[in-house]
Amino acid sequence: MAKAFGFAATDASAPLAPFSFDRREPRDKDVELDILFCGVCHSDLHTARGEWGNTLYPSVPGHEIVGRVSRVGAGVTKYRVGDLCGVGCLVDSCRHCVSCNEGLQQYCENGWTGTYNGPEQGTGANTYGGYSDKIVVDEAYVLRIPDGMDPAAAAPLLCAGITTFSPMRRWRVTAGQRVGVVGLGGLGHMAIQIANAMGAHVTLFTTSPGKLEDAKKLGAKDVVISKDPAAMAAEANTFDFILDTVAAPHDLDPYLNMLKRDGVMCLVGAPATPHPSPGVFNLIMKRRQLVGSLIGGIPETQEMLDFCAKHGIVSHIEMIAMADINEAYERMLKSDVKYRFVIDMATLDKTAA
Ligand code: NAP
Ligand code: ZN
Ligand code: ZN
Repeated sequence: MAKAFGFAATDASAPLAPFSFDRREPRDKDVELDILFCGVCHSDLHTARGEWGNTLYPSVPGHEIVGRVSRVGAGVTKYRVGDLCGVGCLVDSCRHCVSCNEGLQQYCENGWTGTYNGPEQGTGANTYGGYSDKIVVDEAYVLRIPDGMDPAAAAPLLCAGITTFSPMRRWRVTAGQRVGVVGLGGLGHMAIQIANAMGAHVTLFTTSPGKLEDAKKLGAKDVVISKDPAAMAAEANTFDFILDTVAAPHDLDPYLNMLKRDGVMCLVGAPATPHPSPGVFNLIMKRRQLVGSLIGGIPETQEMLDFCAKHGIVSHIEMIAMADINEAYERMLKSDVKYRFVIDMATLDKTAA
């Protein structure tokens, strides 16, 4: 076992605090990363605070990890010591089911292993995420950070990037389509950039009028304040695809009403309590589709990283020290983040162990 150190929540109401734990020694196919940066996803907050009801404590969140390879097992072929690598939301899966065989490990029929909150394949043990100094992951679940990409600004691509890229690929967002993005936070700011790079005409729906200018800089052509019912109604029947990234329950009907015939609205935001049920007639009268999507598999995550490198897309980040994580969570709850907090792991004070 190797000694590791990070920040953990010990129960749903405890602030995150310094935490020492063990990581496995690298096995034959394992890569060990010294973590440089870790993005702060709203899912980290949902998990640390037990909002989804499934948290294994102590919980070390963090699944937007960029680091340098510090050790490799004897059987590792893809990476070498010194490489700049990423780890996203999943670190293992069964590797033989129909979904794993299609590279869709996030839908593993036998249960995938989260970067945090487990369960480890075989043992069912908890796993510890990227709010820590190092991580050990099988090379098959490690990503390559493209040359020249800023490592801190790349970190949020590992969750916010792939979670928005994957549904846009799945439902074939193409040039000239009208795409709506609901919520301008970590996921939303990646969604705008990616949809724009795919050639779509992007509209942001936001509760925060102060984000208008930023949305346009990110590539949105239009911004609609979602609290304005008349502005919302004016968009009826005009969208091909809407991606909803909001972390809180809200009425879906005004958005469904904006879809064209056969249009698709995809939910990726995962609030702790359900959205009110949408009206059935909004769906059946125009054969509209309401769907969901979960992160992305390993091959598609690499494809997304390469797509972002090609189009010059990275996250817009606010760097924080590890000790500022609890304050960052409070700000995230107020939609006060532009547009992703990233922890500089050099600030992790190991003397606090
Ligand atoms: P975030 O940075 O906090 O952004 C969420 C945005 O939602 C806010 O910036 C805000 O945008 C909007 N919002 C509107 N009303 C809100 C309210 N009452 N409370 C909070 N936000 C509100 O969060 P994120 O990291 O992008 O994550 C968004 C959601 O996606 C979370 O629920 C997260 O767990 C989930 N998620 C799902 C997946 C998946 O695989 N499906 C992956 C990652 C994350 P405006 O100010 O523009 O209104
Ligand atoms: Zn995430
Ligand atoms: Zn599987």
